[in-house]
Amino acid sequence: MKKIAIYPGTFDPLHKGHIDIIRRAVGLWDELYIAVADSPHKGTLFSLEERKAMIQNEFEESKNIKVISFNNLLIDLASSLSARILVRGLRVVSDFEYEFQMLGMNRTMNPDIETVFLMAEPQYQPISSNFVKDIARLGGDISKFTSLNVTNKLKEKF
Ligand code: ADP
Repeated sequence: MKKIAIYPGTFDPLHKGHIDIIRRAVGLWDELYIAVADSPHKGTLFSLEERKAMIQNEFEESKNIKVISFNNLLIDLASSLSARILVRGLRVVSDFEYEFQMLGMNRTMNPDIETVFLMAEPQYQPISSNFVKDIARLGGDISKFTSLNVTNKLKEKF
């Protein structure tokens, strides 16, 4: 049976920390769904379609990566895709508390679904979408933090 994993997030926008986690995850499981959260309450800079398109652009060569969107519970999404693994990236200590609670509550709702935490290379760990957007907004160089395509998309926005 195929081992299917889901990497959920807001990806507003995709950056090199995310890309590092995706490369690691795709080497571990047969199929990886990158699930982009609709998150209308978060007031994202990029629309759902824009966020998906930026990820698709980065991984169009990878046959075992699929980019989807979701607006339901992660455990329900996992069940509908026959996925048993949720991938999350861990950066700073402050991520831990939120992730700990999310894992605990997801496990209570569905004990068959396992959350796996991966860490990016040290140089990519401090990157966050919010800082990438702030730096871009102020005219800074973000090319070390994200791909050329996303860098250009951010330039268009500001
Ligand atoms: P969310 O709103 O779910 O936190 P994000 O797009 O910010 O969405 O992040 C998606 C996932 O990627 C989360 O698991 C987050 O911890 C992880 N992540 C974000 N930035 C990094 C990074 N620099 N290194 C490793 N993991 C990261």
